[in-house]
Amino acid sequence: MTTSWRLSVCGALLGWLVLATAQAQELPIFDAHIHYSRPDWQVFIPERVLAILNQAGVQRALVSSTPDDGTLQLYAAAPQRIVPFLRPYRTREDMGSWPSDPAVQAYVEERLKRGIYKGIGEFHLSATQAEAPTVRRCAELAAQQQLFFHAHVDDVTVAKLLRLYPQVRILWAHAGMSAPAATVGQLLEQSANLWVELSMRFDVASGGRLDPAWQTVFLKHPDRFMVGTDTWITSRWDELVSGMQSVRSWLNQLPRDVAERIAYGNAERLFGNPK
Ligand SMILES: [Zn+2]
Repeated sequence: MTTSWRLSVCGALLGWLVLATAQAQELPIFDAHIHYSRPDWQVFIPERVLAILNQAGVQRALVSSTPDDGTLQLYAAAPQRIVPFLRPYRTREDMGSWPSDPAVQAYVEERLKRGIYKGIGEFHLSATQAEAPTVRRCAELAAQQQLFFHAHVDDVTVAKLLRLYPQVRILWAHAGMSAPAATVGQLLEQSANLWVELSMRFDVASGGRLDPAWQTVFLKHPDRFMVGTDTWITSRWDELVSGMQSVRSWLNQLPRDVAERIAYGNAERLFGNPK
């Protein structure tokens, strides 16, 4: 056996070990905030979207789209990996008017007949719209069909929704976008029907270091958080892989069991395992 041959065997073995260790450490991710909306369809075919998710180590994703046909395209391409949520927007113009729009209500009722959805949303809402007719009807349907709400609302509105619709479980998009960690913790203590996803919350680890206030609520409520991207515009797909690397780097600053729950365990428990 020559020295160089031995060295190359050692090198290969070492390379394999490094790779195996990296793979063992790499957390799988359930991305709890993906959209595949009309402008994305021209740029990324479903196979390309799935390739981006693969590259990011995202095994499953909660998807809602404007219009919903985008979600159906991804679901058809990979039913085991896509958890469909029904977004009550046919176009972006529905975003402000949907709470009182009977046509949106008809769209939601018709679409839900497919029976594939785990929730309604992501939707936007102000506190004054929380009791509007289409919102009330969606809450009724959600209660009947055990669907989540995926709500992009502020802390006042999420508290109001929890109070008005105690039968509906709520996934709070972006932790309200700006609600402080302590407020999020208080709301979690007040309601057992609330879960929180952290897409676009760069304050969780600005500069790469996990913020102590967030760390406190994660350790106190490890079963209530998820991570996500939010591909709200097409360019967000280009940032998905690097975004998930940043998320993994703060997850890795938590105890492994907590990191695993936030990375994918909580979402898997709530939205079911692949069939
Ligand atoms: Zn969104």
